[in-house]
Amino acid sequence: MKKPGLQTQTFLEISQKYEPACMNWQAPVVWDHAQGAEIWDVDGRRYIDWTSGVLVANVGHAHPRLAEAISRQAGRLLNTFDFPTPERLHLARKVVETTPPHLDKVFFVTTGAEAMDAAMRMAKRTTGKYEILAFWGGFHGRSFGPMSLTGLPKIKKNFGPLLPGTILAPYPYCYRCPFDRVHPDCNFFCLDFMDRVVDVESAGSLAALVVEPYQGTSGFVFPPAGYLKKLEAWAGRRQILFILDEVQSSFGRTGKMWALEHERLEPDILVLGKGIGSGMPISAVVTRAEILSSLERGEMSSTTGGNPLSCAASLAVFEIIEKEKLVEKAATNGAYLKEKLIKLKDKYQVIGDVRGMGLVYGIEYVKNRSTKEPAPDLARDVVIKCVERGLMCGKLGIFGNVMRVAPPLVISPELIDQSVAVLDGVLSEF
Ligand code: PLP
Repeated sequence: MKKPGLQTQTFLEISQKYEPACMNWQAPVVWDHAQGAEIWDVDGRRYIDWTSGVLVANVGHAHPRLAEAISRQAGRLLNTFDFPTPERLHLARKVVETTPPHLDKVFFVTTGAEAMDAAMRMAKRTTGKYEILAFWGGFHGRSFGPMSLTGLPKIKKNFGPLLPGTILAPYPYCYRCPFDRVHPDCNFFCLDFMDRVVDVESAGSLAALVVEPYQGTSGFVFPPAGYLKKLEAWAGRRQILFILDEVQSSFGRTGKMWALEHERLEPDILVLGKGIGSGMPISAVVTRAEILSSLERGEMSSTTGGNPLSCAASLAVFEIIEKEKLVEKAATNGAYLKEKLIKLKDKYQVIGDVRGMGLVYGIEYVKNRSTKEPAPDLARDVVIKCVERGLMCGKLGIFGNVMRVAPPLVISPELIDQSVAVLDGVLSEF
């Protein structure tokens, strides 16, 4: 492994001394500043960004319009608690007008986990039931409510007992189908299986199901086309609420403003985060007035929820996405990137699967294409070498063998060419 620069070494020593090692593994880089889809570290080394932080910086790093909106608001007003501000109200109108018409209210909080927690409480209160169905491999945040819904054992290990009433069903991870079936011949067997899961596990108090349009943390697992619409219909038949966790799939990431547009989903509750502030902490629960009517004054609020600084930032994010046509760019440049990634898959046996849409892809590394044995060590070595050669990337997934490809939506075709060339060069050495 190449030695990090002097400044980087110094900062990493400070990190080792003063910070816990409970955060996710990352290649040894200390970020200094960033612009658009490029990052510079504390030693002045440049990187092309395939992370967007963690799918956050959708409008690109240090966007001048976003920076201006933040600094202007920082000099005016930072916090009012629940007193309304023009920024919060303009943003509320924007979110409601931009999301599907049946959603007519929005409640702002600060993190994805907090928004998911609020969504769970809304579902329980409005239905008067307490069980929530979620999925194997799902991730919804690390506070106790959302963590209880996670289908990733590592995230909840030794933190129990978790919330009672959580039911988990298999998600269509088609590359590794839990039922060893093949789509489309399987005829969505996993959906039929959900009835069996619920019939066996539910105590008759199912309030809602919670699903991600694609599973990010478990390795960018995308369900086959048509699955989510069928799942929504299944929830309808069961008369439970359909909660869509778009914390990471929204704000243009998948080549549509909302991932729900791909299948015209109509969730009862839509949860937004990450890209909504493109770096400023803010999240939102968008739902119907009818669902919120079960909550009385003072039953939900949060110290920094809907603060004017984050709301001003989010308004600027909407403006930038619209003015710069970032959703369309994510679709077009994403298709260009996907083609290149598929070519790499054809060229290198260590790539078992490439999946995704818009500007979010997972590259799954395997030891052997036939057995599909996961290759987490190889994925880690590939990430380290890519970072050494100027491509900022990371890995994740149920087996830790999936490389995350999620650049800011402003990435240009030239930077896509350069970044894929780096990965190509690295892979040629394995
Ligand atoms: N939901 C999904 C789909 C996520 O990907 C994440 C974070 O990665 C969360 C919820 C939790 O968001 P936060 O880390 O802001 O609490």
